[in-house]
Amino acid sequence: MILNYDVAIFGGGIAGVSAAVTAAREGKNVILIEQSTVIGGNATGGLVNPFMRFWLNNEILCGTFFKELLEELREKDAILQNCFDSEILRLVLMKKLENVTVLFRTIPISVVTSNNRIESVTVKSALGNEYTVVSPLFIDATGDGSLSYIAGCSFESGDELKHENQGTTLMFVLANVNFDKVLSSVRNDPENFFPWVSPAQKVISVGGYFKEVKKAREEGLNYPVDYFFFTQLPGNGRVTVNTTHVWVKTTDDFEISKAIKELHNQVETVYIFAKKYVPGFEQSYIEKISTYLGVRESRRVAGLYQFSGEDVTEKKKFEDGVVKAVYGVDVHKKEENTNPRDSGAIPRYEDYYEIPIRSLISKEFENLGIVGRNFSGTFLGQSAARIMPTCADMGEAIGRLAGKVKRSFYEVFNNLKREV
Ligand SMILES: Cc1cc2nc3c(=O)[nH]c(=O)nc-3n(C[C@H](O)[C@H](O)[C@H](O)COP(=O)(O)OP(=O)(O)OC[C@H]3O[C@@H](n4cnc5c(N)ncnc54)[C@H](O)[C@@H]3O)c2cc1C
Repeated sequence: MILNYDVAIFGGGIAGVSAAVTAAREGKNVILIEQSTVIGGNATGGLVNPFMRFWLNNEILCGTFFKELLEELREKDAILQNCFDSEILRLVLMKKLENVTVLFRTIPISVVTSNNRIESVTVKSALGNEYTVVSPLFIDATGDGSLSYIAGCSFESGDELKHENQGTTLMFVLANVNFDKVLSSVRNDPENFFPWVSPAQKVISVGGYFKEVKKAREEGLNYPVDYFFFTQLPGNGRVTVNTTHVWVKTTDDFEISKAIKELHNQVETVYIFAKKYVPGFEQSYIEKISTYLGVRESRRVAGLYQFSGEDVTEKKKFEDGVVKAVYGVDVHKKEENTNPRDSGAIPRYEDYYEIPIRSLISKEFENLGIVGRNFSGTFLGQSAARIMPTCADMGEAIGRLAGKVKRSFYEVFNNLKREV
């Protein structure tokens, strides 16, 4: 069966949904193809929290789509500062897709190209049905750059020296935590925590418990990292735990599968640790474990511009800048496995940087957009730009551009000096 659309988007994470909703608002007939039954990717099924920094002083830097998410989460009492309820976000995102055709449980399996264009993509559903998607514009928001990979695009993966990917994590939520006990531990023994942990914080985010980790290890528990790190969520006594870590090649199916197994073991160990050793967690229970393996970085597809770590640290602005952000370089490396908030050069938040639209357009195919964590960046550039607000803004930028061009994203350069 042939499916004809104005824009075909692959991947229904925060970047893909943002792109789809924006392109539909621009009057385009849009199809969104998602492999799972969950909308929102890491931001919902992945249980990733909180939204990392998207403000500078009093200015909210992000675009319309992400601002709407914030407002709707606030209206539903589902956000504490930047910590949100992932299930409510899932409902909000699904509602926004009212005017978009969504094909769940479907992946791309082959691509027909001619010269520098993608002509069509054949997709296959979990039921075994195949469809050919024909569209003038395609967008890869799969996070892993899977559509681009099938189309034969060049890409990079891992750091430029050893090609090692960032650590993977399986997020999970613990409920029935006693926050009075947590804060009293922080007050009584601040040295037992990372320096950024404060008993005065309004929304509780704690990393440390070094003494407890040491004791648990001495008593024979095979605890995976040197700290225990969690952040409060809306609701009663709920926290999201970002503590498990496994380093694998994130473009290798078998290594990924091994990581998923190992991370489940780690979730169990961390849970046992929390209940036995951490004051306030005695009566806690596992509310949920992420549906997805948390992959921070896998394929970074080659675009017309490769956004870099220097662009972040030098707060670069571009003639074709379409996304503003402030979050710093943040690498989860094996040998730096000590402080989850100190894994990169945390910037002084004095100015923002921009991401140019060229980083969101394939250098090989004129009608292929690449947004979200698989956009065109160096290892360090991607480490900063991968956060949820920035991914949402990338989606919005390409969605808006899809509304303006007919057959090629390169049409935007008619009015721009092109620095390829
Ligand atoms: C453990 C972890 C902790 C993080 N911590 C934070 C944090 O605290 N704050 C923050 O702001 N950011 C954080 N991030 C980063 C952020 O969550 C992600 O980079 C961001 O959500 C990526 O959004 P995305 O839409 O690009 O991709 P994803 O969320 O990965 O979505 C991709 C979507 O595409 C679908 N898909 C994949 N392959 C295919 C295919 N072949 N066909 C069809 N569909 C496909 C997936 O099912 C998914 O729905 C973290 C990430 C991880 C993994």
